[in-house]
Amino acid sequence: MAKYGELFLKSESVQRYYTKLLTKNIRMALNAAGLKADIELHRGRILISGDNTKDIADTVSKVFGIVGVSIAVLTSPERSEIEEAAAEFASKKLKSGMTFAVRPRRSNITGFTSQELGASTGSRIYQRVPGLTVNLTDPDYEIFVEARKEGGLIYDNSIEGPGGLPVGTQGKVLSLLSAGIDSPVASWLVMKRGCIVSYVHFNSEKYMGADTKKASLENLANLSLWTPGHSVEMVCVKIDKFYDSLVNVENQKNRCLICKRFMLRIASEIVRKEGYLAIVMGNNLGQVASQTLSNISVVESVVPPDIPVIQPLITYDKEETVKIARKIKTFRNLAGDVGCSVVPKHPAVSATSESVIEDEKELDIKELMKICLLDVKKYRALNGEIISPDES
Ligand code: ATP
Ligand code: MG
Repeated sequence: MAKYGELFLKSESVQRYYTKLLTKNIRMALNAAGLKADIELHRGRILISGDNTKDIADTVSKVFGIVGVSIAVLTSPERSEIEEAAAEFASKKLKSGMTFAVRPRRSNITGFTSQELGASTGSRIYQRVPGLTVNLTDPDYEIFVEARKEGGLIYDNSIEGPGGLPVGTQGKVLSLLSAGIDSPVASWLVMKRGCIVSYVHFNSEKYMGADTKKASLENLANLSLWTPGHSVEMVCVKIDKFYDSLVNVENQKNRCLICKRFMLRIASEIVRKEGYLAIVMGNNLGQVASQTLSNISVVESVVPPDIPVIQPLITYDKEETVKIARKIKTFRNLAGDVGCSVVPKHPAVSATSESVIEDEKELDIKELMKICLLDVKKYRALNGEIISPDES
């Protein structure tokens, strides 16, 4: 039994649309995992039945929009049958001397209150296993009993889901994906809010560490596990020519800002061409020189005002980001050789737009954009694997 969260706040028609997408995403995740199951959609609950309940529960608990999954027993909607099944279920887990609580719930069914259901189920359990005590605040064992129109649901376990909104409800965005830890987490967070995320990675074998591209592809592959059954795209833009020019700019301090502006200019072009609704970045306030508020503003200002730049990690501490990265399995212990040799010794901490624009006059930005946009390669990942192009 899967519970979906926030969708409850939506109007009926929006809910219908969201739950339809949610059900479709669940089906795709189960198919990708090779699991056969029947899915039924009810108010606030999705009932999934199949043989391999443990694997089904694990798979469904990773679908965005789901807040929790429980392996449950389904009975008829008959009150006495629900109580009997609950007593049978609980008696297998309880021993004399233990404390327990029944957590009752009623939905779309009349004739009794949920308190009455809790009390009567509790006394049935009591009869079955002598020597129990009810403790509603801190019980040894808790059983959830739901009387619903479609049947009774009995469970004592729950796997937490990611929550958020079903992927596909909020449109397509383009995420700047690096070889690092932050941008995959930022991408995951917008996915969690319902966005379909495509990626762009900027690479230069000449100026970036040898493992940079490989690490970004690993990030892509890991992220694709969160939308099982959907292939995920990453455009890799080679920016050697741009760096060849950038390293010759006399003032070195603004290099990272000029670089990020260049990345965002290209990203904005791709957004326009492909119809994305926003750009996503893994910026984090004050983490490095290019991520001070004033520098973020200098960098962002090259993006047209109608393209939002979403930066989900802006307020996160590094530990918080790392914690999520570990949880969502995008964290890599060995970063490898992913440094950038263009980074100056003393980057500007709070540059002015004027000084950056002045430096950029030494570059033919438009021409360099054209050149770089001709040197792109598309990658696709599906269910944790890079599926195209095949580079083996
Ligand atoms: P990350 O861990 O995501 O690399 P970071 O803390 O190392 O982030 P920066 O290297 O300053 O920070 O990059 C800030 C953001 O710019 C990244 O989160 C990412 O969105 C984008 N970015 C940086 N380098 C690249 C790249 N080579 N290709 C695509 N996007 C990039
Ligand atoms: Mg980085």
